[in-house]
This record gives sequence, structure tokens and C-alpha cells, in this order.
Amino acid sequence: MMAPAATALGFELRILVEGEDVSAVSAVPNAPVGDYKDLAALLEFSQGLDVMTFDHEHVPAEHLHELIAAGVNVQPGPDALINAQDKLVMRAAIDRLELPNPEWASVDDVEALIAFGDKTGWPVVLKTPRGGYDGKGVRIVGSADEAAETADWFEAMSPLLAEAKVEFSRELSALVARTPDGDSRAWPVVHTIQVDGVCDEVIAPAQDIPLEVAAAAEDAALRIANELGVTGVMAVELFETPGSGSGFLINELAMRPHNTGHWTQDGSVTSQFEQHLRAVLNLPLGATDVLGSVVVMKNFLGGENTDLFSAYPAALAAEPAAKVHCYGKSVRPGRKIGHVNLVGASVADVDGLRERASTVANIIRNGRPSGTATGLPMPSGLTEENA
Ligand code: ADP
Repeated sequence: MMAPAATALGFELRILVEGEDVSAVSAVPNAPVGDYKDLAALLEFSQGLDVMTFDHEHVPAEHLHELIAAGVNVQPGPDALINAQDKLVMRAAIDRLELPNPEWASVDDVEALIAFGDKTGWPVVLKTPRGGYDGKGVRIVGSADEAAETADWFEAMSPLLAEAKVEFSRELSALVARTPDGDSRAWPVVHTIQVDGVCDEVIAPAQDIPLEVAAAAEDAALRIANELGVTGVMAVELFETPGSGSGFLINELAMRPHNTGHWTQDGSVTSQFEQHLRAVLNLPLGATDVLGSVVVMKNFLGGENTDLFSAYPAALAAEPAAKVHCYGKSVRPGRKIGHVNLVGASVADVDGLRERASTVANIIRNGRPSGTATGLPMPSGLTEENA
């Protein structure tokens, strides 16, 4: 998704890929295969680059320090990135900045987890500090008795992060970008809807959010970016907690274009992908205004339909205004394989907009609706046979 933005600006994008079958290969011709955990591969890949950046956070920090020592321009740098790689480091940084954290502790074993739960109240959320994504590495522990069942997690990794289970009204995301020179910009705070720990839908901007909460969340994200020296795009995931002091608590940081920012591809003057390129290249940042009044992004995960294109005639006919982004990944149940963006003219119709975006995503995910072959009229020129 970075490729169209790079092409438009005339930048050459080169991607280090894990294998020739990864979907990025079809979008970026210059895609050497190599292991991002292998320093030699990283050093070879970095030859001749103006800047090296990331689409995930798992490149080891010690390798990034080596790359910098070898003269590579790494953005964001390892001292910022560590806060997105390690949730214990991130919690300590948020405390240092005196921004609103849930109650948390670093716990070494089951006994420490029980002591934390007895102090803050059960249930408790137990997290692996590193390597988690889409809710993998997050476990709800209901009671001291249940805590005994987490011994396997402590055997695999210790310490772990324990957090009080937050009673939130909804989840939010504050997306910002910052350049190495310190120029920064924010998009409006969005509402993110998670299903089973996976981002399912985003509504931009978050509807009916108190102005002071939106402003404080945006300020917090910009402060984190400035104080931690973040460069490129960063998403700050938040829990909205009406009635608490700030109205929100910080969940976690992602330092790269993020699923909660995909709406910007069609719904903002500057997409997060273009902004990331501008930011890491230390260029002036683009405007972050919303196009239209409200934008909905709906993910589609792997489902029944394994031949996505067979559903396109029905899906695209259902909603001509929808913008479909398909990642070219093989379909596996529950895997994120694409999303739909839909820009609305009026906030009064946000429910209708969500329904329309879901209709398109569900047709692609599940194949043709039952009933008639497609359940929807064929666009002109297409018959059931050639659809
Ligand atoms: P990941 O790194 O896998 O995205 P997160 O830390 O964002 O993991 O947690 C995944 C989801 O679990 C969150 O989106 C939220 O719905 C829920 N969650 C995480 N931490 C808490 C918490 N302290 N209280 C309540 N729910 C939580």
C-alpha cells in the first residue's frame, strides 16, 4: 500500500521480503528476499538507500544500532521503536510522560500476577511484552485460581505485562506523523471497533467524542511522538473512559502505517502511506483534512470465499462509491486480506455508511450471497457466465 504513494512522488521503493510469495512482491518490483533478523542481509539491503523504514516492528533493535553505525539512515530509530516493540518499555515511557496509563505492573511469575490482581481487582489482562499482534499475546485472567493456568506463559517469557482490565466505552486511535526535524501533524481521532482482538471497522472522525477528549488524545499522541523522537507515522491506540480524569487511557503504540489509518487512503487529503514516506524522508508533511464528513473503513478477513475476484461483480455493483483494497494475500480463515473505504457526505448517515461498507466487505469475504447466483443485478456487460 506504500507503493502507489511512492510511485506518485517518483520515489523508488525497495522492500526486503521474507519470501518470493509475499504479496508485496506483486506491488514492488525491487523486492530482494532476506531475513529481517539477519544483520548481513540488512546491511546488504541498505546499500544505496536514502532511508530505511519498516512495515512491522520486529527488526531487532541491536541490528538497527549496527545499521546506524554503518551510516544507514534508519527511521524511526531504535530508541523510539523500542516503545512499539516492547509493551513494558512503552508503559514505563507513558508513566514518565505522565500520560494516562491503565494500572500496570511487570510480573515475573504467577505469584506476582496474583498479587497484582488482588491489589487492582480481577479480571486482569496479561500480555506478552513482545511479538503480540491482533490480540495474540493477550489473555484475560479472571481470578487468582485462573492465574495458576498462566504458568506456561511465564515459562515461555518472563517478565510479562499485567494490566487492570479497563472498562472502556469504545476504542479510539490517534494517528500522527513526525519528521526527523520535528515537524508533526495529526489526523482526527478515530473510533476503532475490534472483534476478537482484531480491528474490524474504523469510523473517522470518532462520532460524538467530547471536543476536549479528542484534543487531549491528539495532544498526547503528538507529545509521545516528540518526546520519544518518533519519525514516520505512529498510531496511539486508546481506550475511551468517560468520567475518568482525561477521558481516555493509552493502550499501545504502533510506529508505522497502521490498520486504524487505512481510511486515510481515500478519506484524507494525505494518506498515511504518503505521509510516512514524506516524514521519514524529512520532507514537508501533507494536509490531514478529512474528505467528506465521515469515512468508514471495513476490513475483510479470510472467510468462505477463496476466489475473491469471483465476488467482485456483485461487490462492486453493490456500492459504486466503495474503494476496495485487496492485499493479494492467499485466503486463510481470520487473516486480514483487504478492506473497503467509503466516504460519506453527511454524519447523519453514519449507520447507513457502515452498513454499505459491510455489505461490500461481506460479499467479497463470503462469495456470492445465497439465492440467485449473485443476489444482485449484474453490472451492464457482465453476465453470470463471464462475471
Ligand atoms: P495487540 O498488540 O495484539 O494489538 P492489544 O494490547 O492492543 O494487543 O490488545 C488487543 C485488544 O485487547 C485491545 O484492542 C482491547 O480490545 C483488549 N485489551 C487490551 N488491553 C486491555 C485492557 N487493559 N483492558 C481491557 N481490554 C484490553
